[in-house]
Amino acid sequence: MRKHLFEGMFRSPLTEAAPLPDEAALAELAAGVDHAARRRLGRSLSIREIDAGSCNGCELEIHALSNAFYDLERFGLRFVASPRHADVLLVTGPVTRNMRQALERTYNATPDPKWVVAVGHCAVDGGIFAGSYAVAGGVGAVVPVDLHIAGCPPTPLQLLQGLLALLAGASET
Ligand code: SF4
Repeated sequence: MRKHLFEGMFRSPLTEAAPLPDEAALAELAAGVDHAARRRLGRSLSIREIDAGSCNGCELEIHALSNAFYDLERFGLRFVASPRHADVLLVTGPVTRNMRQALERTYNATPDPKWVVAVGHCAVDGGIFAGSYAVAGGVGAVVPVDLHIAGCPPTPLQLLQGLLALLAGASET
């Protein structure tokens, strides 16, 4: 134990330094999403995140959008706690049988006009969890999907690109 304590005091960290975000690209993308949202909706975009059964890898990247690096709210994009306040449902993971009803009820509680964005490979068709007895399928098997953002998991910049594509009318990024 003492050996490990001494080693820990003098050894450099084993983890790699986190990559710095591309600040210019981020600012341009986020401003583009904000501009497109104001043009389509007349106001900024409200997002409700739903974990329908993911491994939480996709959630970590989505949460990163709100951290001090990406700070999405400075561009007028915000995550909301209730689907009743949301324009976009950001859904991750394969839809598990336990979460199927919750996803349907959340979708029905979201006012029109609304968009559903399926985030990550698992949200497309179940991904690595496809075929499991516990999985109902991809998000599209339960609610209508407007856009898929591929990746395992997609990065925060890819998420922003997806939101921008959504507002511009695309169906896949
Ligand atoms: S796409 Fe990858 S990171 Fe996202 S829920 Fe599936 S396995 Fe996890």
